[in-house]
Amino acid sequence: ATPMSVINAVGKAAQLGLLIRTGESLQQAADLDILLVDKTGTLTQGQPVVTDVMVVGHCSEAEVLSWAASLEQGSEHPLAEAVIARAHQQQLPTVEVAGFEAITGLGVRGEVGGVTMALGNAELMVQLGIEVEAVTEPMRTLAGQGKTAVCLARDGMVVALLAIADPLRDDASQAVARLQAMGLQIMMLTGDHQTTAAAIAAELKLDRFEAQMKPADKARVIARLQQQGLKVAMAGDGINDAPSLAAADVGFAMGSGTDVAKESADIILVSPSLFGVAKAIALSRATLGNIR
Ligand code: ADP
Ligand code: MG
Repeated sequence: ATPMSVINAVGKAAQLGLLIRTGESLQQAADLDILLVDKTGTLTQGQPVVTDVMVVGHCSEAEVLSWAASLEQGSEHPLAEAVIARAHQQQLPTVEVAGFEAITGLGVRGEVGGVTMALGNAELMVQLGIEVEAVTEPMRTLAGQGKTAVCLARDGMVVALLAIADPLRDDASQAVARLQAMGLQIMMLTGDHQTTAAAIAAELKLDRFEAQMKPADKARVIARLQQQGLKVAMAGDGINDAPSLAAADVGFAMGSGTDVAKESADIILVSPSLFGVAKAIALSRATLGNIR
């Protein structure tokens, strides 16, 4: 593209709610093959709420919520906010946790009132040698509804199951369909459980997804796709997404996302909607078409 048409396009982009950080990205966007999308905060609203509390054994719901919220006080995960909000709502107290530890992609643990507790996914329970057989079936049911199911363990035993749901963005499904009609494959990457991811992928009619991903895995997926000769875009919002936003041919950060994500992206979507990606591609195609 000529310098003049690129300058015009950057101005046009701003009117469409797209902040272009790198000039090349506007040209790259014309012939993207695949868009990778983070789940939490990108496809979903990023404001999860606790939907189900299932007590296993003799504890009360108030007790398990209070313990869970206590554990989550030290975590910065969106799931933690949901658990704490639920306890506040029910006016339940939280207490200090000794030896707190956040285990990336798995959950949290620590001592509450002198008793060892852990809150997280089944993988965390297995790693801690805690029996999950009694809750496997309800966990599968909750995950099948697209919810994230986590276990609370107290003194080596699962005492509760919490389900957390993060509603999809209102226009996620339509934006995915639009991008697919423009010729892109859409692939979701998430650290969440396989079953939860499958339910969301089916609801949005995504082409592909990968679940239970650790942060470093996302950048590895991009390298693999690029080696296959594909031109790869990535859309994300989190600190975890920064390396993949930088590694993608075109990185899109949600305007509602973290600063780190925005600094690593090529294009910032001022309003947090994947329709912004479609607008950028259409603008890029029109700009290149004009000067060809
Ligand atoms: P995502 O990419 O969806 O944000 P993460 O990699 O951050 O996923 O986390 C993966 C999974 O680890 C979560 O779905 C949850 O089961 C568990 N997990 C991580 N942090 C926490 C936490 N603070 N409390 C409970 N569960 C957690
Ligand atoms: Mg996210």
